[in-house]
Amino acid sequence: MSWHRQRFPLVPPEQAETCCRCGKPTRIPVPVHCVPRASGPDVIIYACPNCAVHLVPGPLPGELK
Ligand SMILES: [Zn+2]
Repeated sequence: MSWHRQRFPLVPPEQAETCCRCGKPTRIPVPVHCVPRASGPDVIIYACPNCAVHLVPGPLPGELK
């Protein structure tokens, strides 16, 4: 199977997040809000750069302490 891996190397998928304002996936997600959850890790809300400038930034991880 090594030949298969060499011909088709596993590359990590590009980090794409959905913009919370326009709903479109963005390759340059900007964290604009952090929603704490009691039963798991915090949910980070992302926006695309175009929308991020229109959003009021909320607390980010590390800023809640
Ligand atoms: Zn957007």
